[in-house]
Amino acid sequence: MKVINGTKLFSLDDKNAILECSNILAKGGLVAFPTETVYGLGANALDAEAVNKIFTAKGRPADNPLIVHIASLSQLNELVLEVSNQVKLLSDRFWPGPLTLVLEKKDIVPDITTGGLNTVAVRLPDHKVALDLLNECQLPIAAPSANLSGRPSPTMAQHVTIDLAGRIEAIIDGGQTGIGVESTVVSLVEDTPTLLRPGGITYEELTEVLDEVEIDPTVKAKVGSEDKAALAPGMKYKHYSPEAEVILVEGEAEKIAHKITELTDDYLAQGHKVGIMATEENSNFYEEGQIQIMGSRNRLSAISANLFRLLRSFDESEVDIILIEGVSDQGLGLAIMNRLRKAAGYQVVKV
Ligand code: AMP
Ligand code: MG
Repeated sequence: MKVINGTKLFSLDDKNAILECSNILAKGGLVAFPTETVYGLGANALDAEAVNKIFTAKGRPADNPLIVHIASLSQLNELVLEVSNQVKLLSDRFWPGPLTLVLEKKDIVPDITTGGLNTVAVRLPDHKVALDLLNECQLPIAAPSANLSGRPSPTMAQHVTIDLAGRIEAIIDGGQTGIGVESTVVSLVEDTPTLLRPGGITYEELTEVLDEVEIDPTVKAKVGSEDKAALAPGMKYKHYSPEAEVILVEGEAEKIAHKITELTDDYLAQGHKVGIMATEENSNFYEEGQIQIMGSRNRLSAISANLFRLLRSFDESEVDIILIEGVSDQGLGLAIMNRLRKAAGYQVVKV
C-alpha cells in the first residue's frame, strides 16, 4: 500500500485491501474502486453525511443523483418500493452487469443520495473487486464515477489519483476497466421504460427483453436545461471534458477524414496545437505524431474501452484542439457518441 497526499492506494496484492476499505466505508469514508465500466467513488448510500462527502470531493452539483451499488437482489428489496416483473426480467438477464435501473425509493434512502428525487438508481456490478467490497461491507454503496465533476471518467487508478488524491480516504487499483463507458441507465417509473443514459448494455439488447424502450431526447442531442431534460439530472452538466477544446466530426468515415485533415490544416495555420482521435481505418489520412488511435469501427467495444483514457492523454500532450472522429450510433456506438457529443460540448461538424 502506498499513500499519496494522505489517500491510501491499495493494490490487489495487498491482502487487507478489501477489509480495510470496507471498514473505511462502514465508518462513513470514501473509497474509489474498479467496476467493469469505470472506477466508482463509493460511500455508504444510507449515510447522508458520508454521501455528502462524495459531492464535496467531486465538486458534483447536489441535484445530480448517484447510482447505488448492491451485491445481491435481496439488497434491492431494502431500497425500492416494488420489485416488478420487469425488474426481475432485466436483472435476470443483465445483472451482474452495466445496467442501472431507476425505481421508486423507500424512505431509508436519504434525499442527498437521489438528488432530492423520490426515485433511486440501482445496479449490481460485474467486477470481482467491486463485489468483494460490497459483500464485505454488506452496505448499499452510492458510487458515481471517481473523477472530478466535468472530467472524463476514470478507467485506471492513476486517473483517480490525478483527480482525487488528497480528497478521499482510499483507492483500490484493479487495473484498467473493461467496458470503459458507464452503465446504461433505464427508468422504470415512466409508463414506458425509458433509456436515460446509453452505456455498457445496448439499446438493442434491452429490446430483446422489453417490448418497448423509449430513448430520452437528451441521449442524442443537447436539450435546454428548462426542458424535461432533468429526467436524468446528470445529463445536463458539462461532462467528460479534457483540458483542450473538443470538436466532433460526424458522418461517413472517409468524409470525416477529409474534414479533419482540412480542420487540422486550418488550426495549425492559426498556430494551434492539434490532436486527433482517429479510428484504425482512417489512421493513414493523418500525420503520425498527431493521432491517438481509438480502435476499429468494426469493434466498438475496443473504442469504448479506450475512449476516456485517450481523452485524458491529450492533457499531457498539451494540445489546444482535439478533433475526434464520430462512429456509428448502433450498439455501443450510441454510448460512445453520447459521451463524445458531451465531451465536445455539442460542437459537432456534420459531413
Ligand atoms: P454517474 O454516477 O456519474 O455515473 O452518473 C449517474 C447518472 O445516473 C446520472 O446521469 C444521473 O442523472 C443518473 N441518475 C441517477 N439517479 C437517478 C434517478 N433517480 N433518476 C434519474 N436519473 C438518475
Ligand atoms: Mg460521472
